[in-house]
Amino acid sequence: MALSLYNTLTRKKEELTTLKPGEVGLYTCGPTVYAPPHIGNLRTYLFEDLLKRVLLMNAYQVNHVMNITDVGHLTSDADEGEDKMEKGSQREGKSVWEIAEFYTTMFKQNMAELNILEPNVWCKATDHITEQLALIQQLEAKGLTYKTSDGIYFDTAKLKDYGKLAKLDAKGLKEGARVEANPEKRNPTDFALWKFSPPAGEPEKKRQMEWDSPWGVGFPGWHIECSAMSMKYLGETFDIHCGGIDHIPVHHTNEIAQSEAATGKPFVKYWLHGEFLVVDAKRMGKSEGNLLTLDWLTKEGITPLAYRYFCLMTHYRKPLNFSLEAALSAQKALQNLQDKVATMGEPSVGCAEYEEKFKAALNDDLNAPQGLAIVWELMKSSYPNSAKKQSLLKMDEVLGLGLKDVPTLTMPPEVEALVEERERIRRDKDFAKADDIRIRIKELGFTVDDTELGPVVKKLH
Ligand code: AMP
Ligand code: ZN
Repeated sequence: MALSLYNTLTRKKEELTTLKPGEVGLYTCGPTVYAPPHIGNLRTYLFEDLLKRVLLMNAYQVNHVMNITDVGHLTSDADEGEDKMEKGSQREGKSVWEIAEFYTTMFKQNMAELNILEPNVWCKATDHITEQLALIQQLEAKGLTYKTSDGIYFDTAKLKDYGKLAKLDAKGLKEGARVEANPEKRNPTDFALWKFSPPAGEPEKKRQMEWDSPWGVGFPGWHIECSAMSMKYLGETFDIHCGGIDHIPVHHTNEIAQSEAATGKPFVKYWLHGEFLVVDAKRMGKSEGNLLTLDWLTKEGITPLAYRYFCLMTHYRKPLNFSLEAALSAQKALQNLQDKVATMGEPSVGCAEYEEKFKAALNDDLNAPQGLAIVWELMKSSYPNSAKKQSLLKMDEVLGLGLKDVPTLTMPPEVEALVEERERIRRDKDFAKADDIRIRIKELGFTVDDTELGPVVKKLH
């Protein structure tokens, strides 16, 4: 069963064929560690985790690299504004290094809570300054760079196919360009590879993070880190690169420009982008002032895994509208599933029919909403619990809802017998008698709820 993925580069669903059979090189743009991740950011990492788990389901060996941006990302994705890290440091009165450490730890904790698999390689931008300088020098040697008073820039007009990912056309870009902060830029799309630290005469602007370079003391631009580190760990051409859709026109476009200009080879075969989490039709983002965190969700009674379930209910290429009500209903659905799993006993031979349908859905460009529908169909089917459980746990290796960790509920045989008897009686529509049995079950310390998945038993506390 082939795996098809929507490639932003071609705007088509394509069958995956990897450079090395059975192996995938995967690079996902990681967080800028200057503030707590918001649940919009986390939606993107959940989509990438789904992709990775689907690759694993297809028996690929996945070599996954994720970076940590701890320098160079300015408050605008272009080359304007302050460095987010330096700004975070001023806000909190800590050093940039402390800020980076603190928010990296928080990000990793959020990932663990969401049951996101860790990459094989974590790489920090500040640990790879040498590699970034070397790449800039390669571009300089090819005559693709120029110097302005604030840094070294990439001359995008020198490339024939600049902007092919976003399908940018030079004319439209010039017309649509904003007033440029740096009038020395030759073209609106040119971007900084290296930025100079403010002059020594302005001590109040002194940066905490800066390095020597052949051009002067400063720091790398944001895009160069991902080109340098992805190629270091995955090779000059690799299989899959992901991020949120906001990365298409600037960050990923510039990564392609730098990498392909330096190596003369195609950079990445498949580009995958996740759509935004929105609130009232507005992107969740810092400038919109509508940020929500995982901690906040937990306080509202929505567990991280329920947020994962909520995200799985919408295809990754569709915007997902966040509302507390919808998230609470995801919480309830997951709770139902967990309660049912707790009473399903030991797994045995699974239901091949459902497992195949599930795989086909996920292999069709990661159709998780369809996958979840199949899970519920399976749960309502007439297969025995042991078979359902086997298939469910297999599907959950892809969904990542942690169902294998749900503790088994051990019922005394007496309670089990009463639950079965009550079901028989209910089928005969003798509801008064069924209620009597419910009371007897309660006396033995258990409750029974009639759900769309049949009776669900829980222990009374
Ligand atoms: P950043 O830490 O700002 O570099 O962003 C981390 C990731 O979150 C990037 O891949 C962004 O594309 C993604 N992202 C930012 N805002 C949203 C949003 N509202 N919904 C989904 N993904 C987002
Ligand atoms: Zn990146």
